[in-house]
Amino acid sequence: MVLTFLTLHTLMSYLPRSSSGSSVIISSIIKPVRFPRVWCCTHTPINQTQTAMEQLDPSNSSQVVVPHPDLLHAKISSIRMAGHSKLQIIADFDATLTKYWVNGCRGQSSHGLLQQGNPEYDVKRQELYDYYHPLEISPSIPIEEKAKLMEEWWGKTHALLIEGGLSYDAIKKSVANSMITFREGVVELFEFLEARDIPVLIFSAGLADVIEEVLRQKLHRSFKNIKIVSNRMIFDGDGHLVSFKGKTIHVLNKNEHALDMAGPLHDQLGDSDGPNEDGASVKKRTNVLLLGDHIGDLGMSDGLDYETRISVGFLNDNVEKSLDSYRKAFDLVYLNDGPMWGVVKLVSQLCSTEGD
Ligand SMILES: [Mg+2]
Repeated sequence: MVLTFLTLHTLMSYLPRSSSGSSVIISSIIKPVRFPRVWCCTHTPINQTQTAMEQLDPSNSSQVVVPHPDLLHAKISSIRMAGHSKLQIIADFDATLTKYWVNGCRGQSSHGLLQQGNPEYDVKRQELYDYYHPLEISPSIPIEEKAKLMEEWWGKTHALLIEGGLSYDAIKKSVANSMITFREGVVELFEFLEARDIPVLIFSAGLADVIEEVLRQKLHRSFKNIKIVSNRMIFDGDGHLVSFKGKTIHVLNKNEHALDMAGPLHDQLGDSDGPNEDGASVKKRTNVLLLGDHIGDLGMSDGLDYETRISVGFLNDNVEKSLDSYRKAFDLVYLNDGPMWGVVKLVSQLCSTEGD
């Protein structure tokens, strides 16, 4: 695929400024519609109100919020000047690389898609979701307390997967039958980054083995520059899950894992400048493009001693309620489950050697 290399001016021209110049919102916020987790629904999702052309047109900026255009401008310039050998991408998986809505229904997560071939255990895991998910999104529970609850939820879910005899074959079958889809533009983003040896770290509180299977089945190819940090399963000789490797990663402790897990993995990725010695590659990649759909995803880059970080947030739902906090947290906010084209454009700009 031929990507258009846009000048900085062109990119920023998609981001018109407010009269004060201090904060820009390019968006007509469409009234959010709340969906239950149940996969089948009759409601029309927000992004169906856009036409297919609008969704596929990379220049469509009507769903982008840029809280501080001057700051973003400066960060883009700084990363461009440093060159793409200094750049790394850190991306959340569920509802960031994948779509929040799939065919009018809530898309599945790497945890949610699993059918372990034992309906009793699928029901038990759903019951845990029904109990813990409201706690996860409750604004009144202090973060420390919530983190303990999330640890508890993940622990119980993983135990059920083991107890219920999850097999690798069940993972393959679950992914084949799943409602999980990558955002438009994700493949092009990965291809662009792979061609330039820019490492992509997929950092997820989901399940590494499921994510790998989703990549295999949905993208039909592998990318040598992609590594996954997530909850990793250990199978016995018969292909049954027996345990999980290392510490549990849940939605609220990605920051605790950033240093001890992201570092070594990045070190293994090697570097286009030559062979990696003494774990130096992660230190060389001092500029970060971070993609996430939760404010907690910003913690994915904790522990990396970055110089410049551009953070992109996908605000998929509850736009009116959450926009203010997302504007404070991210450099760019894509609304209503938009495609990845804007990020493809941004990355091509970050790697461009053309002048402004
Ligand atoms: Mg997510």
